[in-house]
Amino acid sequence: MKGKIIIISAPSGCGKSTIINALLKQGDIDMQFSISATNRSPREGEQDGVNYYFLTDEEFNDAIAKDAFVEYEEVYPGRYYGTLKREISRITDEGHNVILDIDVKGGVNVKKLYGQAAVSIFIQPPSIGELRARLEGRNTDSKEAIEQRVGKAEYEISFAPQFDFVVVNDELNKAVTEVGDTIKRFIAD
Ligand code: 5GP
Repeated sequence: MKGKIIIISAPSGCGKSTIINALLKQGDIDMQFSISATNRSPREGEQDGVNYYFLTDEEFNDAIAKDAFVEYEEVYPGRYYGTLKREISRITDEGHNVILDIDVKGGVNVKKLYGQAAVSIFIQPPSIGELRARLEGRNTDSKEAIEQRVGKAEYEISFAPQFDFVVVNDELNKAVTEVGDTIKRFIAD
């Protein structure tokens, strides 16, 4: 049997990656992380083929031309991210479920494509102020980048009603449990 698709979307800095990593580490759900392709540069500690497939602009455009993506988005100006068809099939063809960490537009698009075979979960920050504080706390982005992300988050939150489930991340452990339970119910269906 083919694996199912689990879509996790959120404005950046809402703890989405932390939640996904916590669930993968717990290891009680049969699911593998879908490694996206991007043309952005690796951050410190990020590895090619682990966090992302880091492509040059040319390689990314080539993948678009070859219709290699399920979906792709220009998430920030000039910075593209996309889910590769062969990445999804690599995991689901073996019967494993796949978990996608993608932006809200990508999340809505993938849900439309896969319908009942996919569940889409939106992680919502408790407030915009809290989100700004978290982005500042993680110390990976410049002041301009943080303002850009906060502005974008306000827009992205308007997509929440298009998702199957919304989980507010006001307390990390609670959010991890809630997302995990939602995934388990979906897989068992
Ligand atoms: P970051 O640069 O912080 O790793 O990611 C920025 C944003 O790109 C995050 O919201 C992340 O979910 C999104 N993203 C990562 N991979 C994909 C993808 O394959 N498709 C889409 N549409 N967005 C992605």
